[in-house]
Amino acid sequence: MKKAFFFDMDGILFDSMPHHSQAWEEIMSKYNLNFTVRDCYLQEGRTGQSVIDECFIKNKGRHATAEEVEQIYGEKTARFFELGGAEPIDGVKDVLNYLKNKGALIFIVTGSGQQSLFDVLHQNFPETFTRERMITAFDVAHCKPNPEPYLKAFEKANFLSHDVNFKKSDCCVIENAPLGIRSAREAGLDTYAVNTGPLKDSDLLAEQPTMLFHNMKELLAYLQFF
Ligand code: CA
Repeated sequence: MKKAFFFDMDGILFDSMPHHSQAWEEIMSKYNLNFTVRDCYLQEGRTGQSVIDECFIKNKGRHATAEEVEQIYGEKTARFFELGGAEPIDGVKDVLNYLKNKGALIFIVTGSGQQSLFDVLHQNFPETFTRERMITAFDVAHCKPNPEPYLKAFEKANFLSHDVNFKKSDCCVIENAPLGIRSAREAGLDTYAVNTGPLKDSDLLAEQPTMLFHNMKELLAYLQFF
């Protein structure tokens, strides 16, 4: 069995993507920017700034100004919170409990930079994630799809394992988004993709995850078998 598991957050721990995509679509269309729910899922994992900038280039043929980024991202974040909090993904607590009982190292690797994140995590997943086992937007210079977040997770896991033979093949990434899978693959790590959203399996398979599951139940059954 793998010794360390690196969990993505949106779409893996929390069912937060429906609210993220609704907020993005609403606010972008207010600024005459065409950005569909599907676009949101395909871009998942990027920072808000790069999502907005790419959308400006595609729709208006120019970069977004810093003021435009700040305005639109501010409105999107406000709308996201207005829509209400997100529940844990169905079955993910069972996966985490199984791995905890097996003594696996469990990390969270997210591009999110919300300070409130830590409280929400502790409420929903008590005694699972400590700050030293989290890689957030505060810990990296480059977010997904850059491999840096997952490389950082490997370095930390390697240190915490106290195992001189610890290697990348002892680790596994759990991801739901194409760009997250790319980040993990380019970091040289195995990736178990779980397609928890509306994208087609082929959208995720295009980034070559090691395995593809359709829900946490399937993932848990696989983990218990091996
Ligand atoms: Ca995600």
